[in-house]
Amino acid sequence: METNGKNTTLRSTHPPETRRRIILFPLPFQGHINPMFQLANILHTQGFKITIIHTQYNSPNHSTYPHFHFRPINDRFSEVEHLLPTNRDPSFYIKYLNRSCVDPFRDCVIGLLDEGPVACLIADAMFYFTQAVADELKLPRMVLRTSSLGCAIGYGALPLSSMDGRFNLTKQDAGYDAPVSEYPLLKVKDMLKIAINPKGYGDLVTNMLKQMKTSSGLIWNTFKELEEPELETINQDFQVPSFTLGPFHKYFPASSSSLIKQDRTILSWLDILPPKSVIYISFGSAARITDTEFQEVAHGLASISSPFLWVVRPGMVLGSEWLESLPEKFLERVGDRGRIVKWCPQQEVLAHSATGCFWTHNGWNSTLESIGEGVPMICSPCFADQPIVARYVSDVWKIGVLLEDGFEKMGIGMAIKRILMDKEGEEMRERISCLKEKVNLSLDEGGSSNKSLKTLVDYISSF
Ligand code: UDP
Repeated sequence: METNGKNTTLRSTHPPETRRRIILFPLPFQGHINPMFQLANILHTQGFKITIIHTQYNSPNHSTYPHFHFRPINDRFSEVEHLLPTNRDPSFYIKYLNRSCVDPFRDCVIGLLDEGPVACLIADAMFYFTQAVADELKLPRMVLRTSSLGCAIGYGALPLSSMDGRFNLTKQDAGYDAPVSEYPLLKVKDMLKIAINPKGYGDLVTNMLKQMKTSSGLIWNTFKELEEPELETINQDFQVPSFTLGPFHKYFPASSSSLIKQDRTILSWLDILPPKSVIYISFGSAARITDTEFQEVAHGLASISSPFLWVVRPGMVLGSEWLESLPEKFLERVGDRGRIVKWCPQQEVLAHSATGCFWTHNGWNSTLESIGEGVPMICSPCFADQPIVARYVSDVWKIGVLLEDGFEKMGIGMAIKRILMDKEGEEMRERISCLKEKVNLSLDEGGSSNKSLKTLVDYISSF
């Protein structure tokens, strides 16, 4: 089994015949698959048998996990998959899966229960339909929530389902930069980003939070020292136990569950660059940007002198296969100072001594991976939880600069200077290095995440 070195003590010593079975059910998107498989590995090392029920869409590679059992179910995603290039509303697909998976998932769990006892189900929080199935089959259901505690609080407070055009303002309108009264950490302009279909997304989030509250317990990929006040609030609001044993990627890297082939050649390119000199840019597995935004990013990168590594996922730029929208002569202009790849081993890039700054969409995994390596961020949130996470990074933890005006080349140049050259950037680096230290302490024997993992294992064993 793969480990990242730090936690080799997690290697399992339990003989297979004494293990209790847990069923895990990930939402089939990269940012959800990675933490669910990391959790599966963590629980396997703690003596549990792991069965993964998964959709056929974005099926994991079974051969990467010979120690797990897999049960694919027919999700009927193929009926809507052709809409992906044009319909950018994630809530549409997630709500579809919450309907199309009900019967195959129930049948699959019944089959597994017939084969032998199961301690519990751990489902992605966005698979809210699983609570009713678990109740019907009298199976304890725990939930993995793959975003932050702060995001759950934000989602609970924001008037997503009833926005009714209240936030449809442009930059010129008064109130565009004003705080949202229900949740003042966010500004009105951030609200526009959360969802292109606020009603659809609001309904999804409402269902998710409701079924989290009726579950047997919540597992969070975070650590107590990062979100202590938020953990207190969650413990009050959700009357079920919460376990904060993250960051999961510090136990097991995400590379084994990558759906896209990672280009590892860039690691030797990083090797020859000075410490903390490189800007690493990636907007994750799902965000899509317009060609105008893409060109602003390119112009911003062309206008600076720092080396950069830019992940441009095929299909990320709307209307383009890959790099067709790059400004003319961009590649000649930047020469060997810049590299563009389709996908990379992100955790290794962030851990590399040459990486000085991460320009990110603030997906929760990326944000935790940056914190885990002490790399300050430039924040360009695109949708869903990302605007909330970005506000935490820039305004609460003060470990990054948020591009307040979106992808705009002047702002991009300024943000890079603030992080790589200014005193302010040094202070951010100190703060995030301090958090990195706290990550390591929390995972050590007796640390908060280590204790939470032990409590979780006892809790599941009590079912
Ligand atoms: N990732 C990667 N290579 C890349 C870009 C991203 O392996 O070139 C991984 C990254 O390490 C993270 C995941 O993809 O674990 C992205 O998850 P996140 O929650 O940050 O964003 P999402 O893809 O869900 O928007």
